[in-house]
Amino acid sequence: MALPNMPAEQVRSTLQELEQAIYNHEQWAEALYGTLICRLAPDQRDMDVDAHRNCRFGQWYYRSGVVNLARHPGLAEIEITHERMHQHARTLLTSSVGRVPISIQDYGRFVAAMKNLYLEVATVRREFEDTLLNLDPLTGTPSRTGMLTKLREQRELAVRNVHPCTIVMMDVDHFKEVNDRYGHGVGDKVLVNLARYVMAHLRPYDTVFRYGGEEFLICLPDTTVETGLDIVERMRVELGSLPHEAGDHGTFHVTGSFGLTLLDPILSVEQSIDRADKALYAAKAKGRNRVIAWDASMNEAPAKPTA
Ligand code: GH3
Ligand code: MG
Ligand code: MG
Repeated sequence: MALPNMPAEQVRSTLQELEQAIYNHEQWAEALYGTLICRLAPDQRDMDVDAHRNCRFGQWYYRSGVVNLARHPGLAEIEITHERMHQHARTLLTSSVGRVPISIQDYGRFVAAMKNLYLEVATVRREFEDTLLNLDPLTGTPSRTGMLTKLREQRELAVRNVHPCTIVMMDVDHFKEVNDRYGHGVGDKVLVNLARYVMAHLRPYDTVFRYGGEEFLICLPDTTVETGLDIVERMRVELGSLPHEAGDHGTFHVTGSFGLTLLDPILSVEQSIDRADKALYAAKAKGRNRVIAWDASMNEAPAKPTA
C-alpha cells in the first residue's frame, strides 16, 4: 500500500503524533480497567456518544489535517475501529454503573476491538516508517526504491479494468546551465522547490518519484492520457513561473519538459516507462518546456538532442 502524496515532514510528524496518541490511548485503557475492576464512578466523557471524539486519541484524530488523511485506507480503518471500541467500552461502563454483571460477550467485543485497533495502528506505523526510509534525502519525494512496486500495483488495476493510470516523465530543462551559472547549491534548491511544488499540487493519490538527477516520474492513478495532459500542462505553466533565488543574481526561472503515456496493461511497467521516456525526448527535441504524449510513431526514438 503506497502512502498518499504527503511531504516527508508531514509523514514524520504524523508518525510521531500517532505514537503519542496511542500512548495516550493506553493510559485511557488503564484508567478504564481501574474504573471497571474497582467499580469507580466512570468518567462522564466515556459515557457520551461522542466519547471517541473527546478522548485524547480522538482529539488528535479529528483535529483538522489528520482527518484529511482519512482518505488513507489504514487511517480510515483506525477511525472505524476506534469508534466501535468506545461503543463497547460504554456498554461495559453502563453495566458497571447499573451493578449488572458484564457479559463475557460484551467483554469479548471490547477486547477484540481493542486488539484490532492496535493491529491497525501498527500497520499504519510500519507503512509510514517504510515511506520515510524510501524518501529521497534531497527532495523529500519517494525515491525509485518503491516506484516499480507502486507502478505494478497500478498496472494490475488497469489489467482488471478497475481504472487507467497515466505516468509522466519530467526532466528539468537546461539544468546543467543552472549549476554552471549559480552553483550546485542553488541547483539543489531548485530541485527541492520543484519537487515540493509538484507534491503540493498533485491530488492526494498521485505520487512523484525522484527518478534520478533532475528527472522525476509522476504516477497519476485513475487518469486517462487526455486528463493527464490537462493536469501536466497546468503544472508545466505553474512550474515555469516559480521564482528561484540565486543570491546576488536575484531570482530566475526554470522550465521542464514532460512525456506522458498510459500505463498500458499489455506492456510491462518498464516498457511503459520507456514510452514516457520517448515522449520526453520528443518534447526536448521540439524545443523543451512542453508536454507530449507518447504515440506509435515514437517507436523510432528520436536522437537525444544535444543543444
Ligand atoms: P536538457 O534540457 O537536455 O535536459 O539539459 P540538462 O542540462 O538539464 O541535461 P543534462 O543531462 O546535460 O544535465 C543534467 C544536469 O543535472 C547535470 C547534473 O550535474 C545535474 N544534476 C543531477 N542531479 C543533481 C543534483 O542532485 N543536484 C544538482 N545541483 N545538480 C544535479
Ligand atoms: Mg536529465
Ligand atoms: Mg534536464
